Amino acid sequence: MEWVVSDELLGTFVPILVYWVYSGFYMLLGSGSLDNYRLHSRKDEDVKNLVSKGTVVKGVVLQQAIQALVAIFLFTVTRNDDTATDTKASVVVLLRQFVTAMLILDTWQYFMHRYMHHNKFLYRHIHSQHHRLVVPYAFGALYNHPLEGLLLDTIGGALSFLLSGMSPRASIFFFSFATIKTVDDHCGLWLPGNPFHVLFRNNTAYHDVHHQLYGSKYNFSQPFFSIWDRLFGTYMPCSLEKREGGGFEARPLKEYKAD
Ligand SMILES: [Zn+2]
Ligand SMILES: [Zn+2]
Repeated sequence: MEWVVSDELLGTFVPILVYWVYSGFYMLLGSGSLDNYRLHSRKDEDVKNLVSKGTVVKGVVLQQAIQALVAIFLFTVTRNDDTATDTKASVVVLLRQFVTAMLILDTWQYFMHRYMHHNKFLYRHIHSQHHRLVVPYAFGALYNHPLEGLLLDTIGGALSFLLSGMSPRASIFFFSFATIKTVDDHCGLWLPGNPFHVLFRNNTAYHDVHHQLYGSKYNFSQPFFSIWDRLFGTYMPCSLEKREGGGFEARPLKEYKAD
């Protein structure tokens, strides 16, 4: 009897594996001598973060477990057995589906994320969990309240999958890519030649600004572009300056509104 792993299962579990492999790679790098590329000092990481690394690991695993169950359910109810055409999608079609999915995910996440900050109840009880990491690090990327994981990531992912029309097989790559991008945005390192820093203006420094106290009303866009921040005036440009004691620092380039 042949045991086949479905694309739906892979689309659910490969991104989880990718999350730990990619953030594990960053942790190995970060434990070395890369202090000259850090956006915050090691001391700040210990002092400013309001949660331990052990708790973060547990929080991420819990969230991934819940999301995996929901994702399998959603894949099952939206499944269409017309998979014969899926494998024949041309590169152009795949590219169009990828870009569409990126725009849909970004749109969903921008408005949900911004609303999570605007609504004090939601911020206090749900989104503030993610902001316990003032100094982000790679495997903290998906440290969220499980409800936030469902609202932003799972529903956003489902919408981008369904509306872009991509196949479950293509979704394995799309969700893995989105996961890598999100981990990279939280890596806390500004390494030379990082392709994400070259290709995306919405990158590690951009999202680092959002994690700072002064930046909590800016740079809501995630995970790919900065379109919505620019359109709605929540864009906070930043410059990377040398930080005292080594490394870099993202400094805001315009006046910001305090609370
Ligand atoms: Zn936020
Ligand atoms: Zn974040």
